Amino acid sequence: MRIDLHTHSRVSDGTQTPAELVAEARRAGLDVLALTDHDTTAGWAEAAAAARSEGVALVRGTEVSCTASGISVHLLSYLHDPHDAALAELLTRSRTSRDGRARAMVDRLAVDFDVTWAEVAAQAGAGATIGRPHIADVLVARGYAADRAGAFATMLAPTGPYYVRYHAPEVAEAVGLVLAAGGVPVFAHPRASSRGRVVSEQVIRDLADAGLVGLEVDHRDHTEADKAWLRDLAAGLGLLVTGSSDYHGAGKPNRLGEYTTTPEVLAEIADRGRIEVVR
Ligand code: AMP
Ligand code: FE
Ligand code: FE
Ligand code: ZN
Repeated sequence: MRIDLHTHSRVSDGTQTPAELVAEARRAGLDVLALTDHDTTAGWAEAAAAARSEGVALVRGTEVSCTASGISVHLLSYLHDPHDAALAELLTRSRTSRDGRARAMVDRLAVDFDVTWAEVAAQAGAGATIGRPHIADVLVARGYAADRAGAFATMLAPTGPYYVRYHAPEVAEAVGLVLAAGGVPVFAHPRASSRGRVVSEQVIRDLADAGLVGLEVDHRDHTEADKAWLRDLAAGLGLLVTGSSDYHGAGKPNRLGEYTTTPEVLAEIADRGRIEVVR
């Protein structure tokens, strides 16, 4: 069984529709795929219909934007009730803040570059969770960067003059809301230091006390030392270990199934989640 529990579609910052993503998962030989768009469940219905027709099992999830004392972190929530009001409200607040933040970044960029909000909004598409990747795509289309990675390394870098922050909940609060919504919270790429500062061991210990269920260990943004350290920590705290691609279509080099999760861990997640795995 090949199981990839972290992927993105056009409903956030991936480049394929949910149906295209599921079809690609089948071609890539995956048996189980999780759709985990940033701060939204809007792709779930389309992905579920595609999963049934393609014969791929689908874990419905969301990658929740969070902060831990000012450090940006991502929390994967699997199999939560999409109608849970408190969690849905938290996700709506983050999407709204992302929207204002992207407009503010475009305002700053427009002083020095020929870019407009209309182009960025068109790039993202109606209803998608807006992120820097959509701004990157416009900068690439305009010839200011070779690809998304190039734009992130320069104009979109957090240390640069065009960067604007957005509001996201504290991760401990998000763990509580995910659990209350019947979801299974897993800390995404906890040691991805290429993206910025990472949290201390104590933060992960505190989250485990708050009900965190797992750590995403096998991920391309982790070194071998990161993975060994996280695996030890997970064992000590009784946390599940997952591995995933964090696939973003053409937006990143990550390939579907480049890291995977064991069937035993998937069974544990399915057991704890409030909603079904679509089969
Ligand atoms: P944002 O959430 O708007 O701050 O943008 C961060 C998102 O951009 C992450 O979810 C990543 O998927 C994506 N990202 C970060 N770094 C890169 C990169 N070097 N190339 C392509 N996408 C990236
Ligand atoms: Fe992303
Ligand atoms: Fe992430
Ligand atoms: Zn992701």
